[in-house]
Amino acid sequence: MADISLKLLSDFVSIQSVSTDPSRHSEILKAVEFLKKEIKSLGFEVNIYKKKGCPPLIIGIYRPASTKVSKVSARQVGIYAHYDVQPEDPVGKWGSPPFELTRRNGKLFGRGVADDKGHIIQIIEAIRRLVETRHASSLHNNIVLIFEGEEENASGNFEELINQARKDLENIDVFYILDMGMKAKNIPQIFYGLRGIIAGELKIKIGETDLHSGVYGNRVLNPVQIIAELLVKIKDGKTHQIKIPSFNDRVKEISQKEMEKSMPSFEVNGIKSGYTGDGTKTIIPCEATLKFSIRLVPNQKAKEIKKIVEDFIKNNLPKEVDFTLELSDGGDPFYTDFENPYSKKTAEILADVFKNKTYFNRSGGSIAAAEILQRVFAKPVILTGFTLDDCNIHAPNENIDCEMFEKGITALQKILRQ
Ligand SMILES: [Zn+2]
Repeated sequence: MADISLKLLSDFVSIQSVSTDPSRHSEILKAVEFLKKEIKSLGFEVNIYKKKGCPPLIIGIYRPASTKVSKVSARQVGIYAHYDVQPEDPVGKWGSPPFELTRRNGKLFGRGVADDKGHIIQIIEAIRRLVETRHASSLHNNIVLIFEGEEENASGNFEELINQARKDLENIDVFYILDMGMKAKNIPQIFYGLRGIIAGELKIKIGETDLHSGVYGNRVLNPVQIIAELLVKIKDGKTHQIKIPSFNDRVKEISQKEMEKSMPSFEVNGIKSGYTGDGTKTIIPCEATLKFSIRLVPNQKAKEIKKIVEDFIKNNLPKEVDFTLELSDGGDPFYTDFENPYSKKTAEILADVFKNKTYFNRSGGSIAAAEILQRVFAKPVILTGFTLDDCNIHAPNENIDCEMFEKGITALQKILRQ
């Protein structure tokens, strides 16, 4: 790997841009400054779009010096990636400090290297190599970089920020979303479908303080028991079917093979309550918090499902408990027609660089930006990326494969020049 991209990735990973943690907002701003400086040094104009309390959207625009050749064939290529990362917990399970880029066994480890800082550095490095060749023809396309800072926190403000940036984006011919992985090492893939997502948090409170379980047991409601009973009503633990009435009404008829990847889902992300330290503490906890996320498939609308889930939870809690329920506005599922010339050309480039056929696939993950960019600008959206299955995104020991990182840069150079 080129030293320059390695150094850049190392500096970028050391910035703790965790968007879900308000106490690290200053790190988000540090990441913005870092990217602004790098992109500017490549000759980009940088526009930062802000909204109070939300990570800024970075737009970088490259307009090559106009030549006769470029005027005829220049395209506007938009490239999206996100600079925020997931929290590093549980820190003890990392083999090396999460915010220190570490190399071992042909892989680079660090929070964000796969999701999605590695892709950002690949994009910057690909552009740097094209710009530094100094031939007018090496980068004749207009390039528009779209770097989001709130992807790991449900992208609630992305559409509003994109609308603020509309004049920078409205002439883009094709959008690339670099936040995905390969089918296997050296086997590229392009995604044409993603699930939508809604994130939720339910807090239940039965009193001001924990109670003695011997004295009050069986006499008061236990908030964890209430959550457990609610969860059983929401989902069948064996079939994974969501049992909330009306939830599945719009689920599109899809083939068995696709269903394995693309059924809607409801998953508990965490429960916080009571005592979980060493030894015993015989209490009835006074409160409990449940965090969960719901994935949606084509035809389901986040807004509609949000209302269905909200009503169901409210109607299925004991009348006497105090609770608060928060559900994110969520993102709709994404499905695109991949029979367009840009997808075909990209598949050819990837196949050429990795020496294997490019697969077209759906993913169970969610990237709100894909659905939003497609709906707002009505242009082809191509999702791809260079991480591998064992890259541990959102988990300890997140990593990227050095060889795929380097080849990805080569592929991006060709994609930007097409
Ligand atoms: Zn991501």
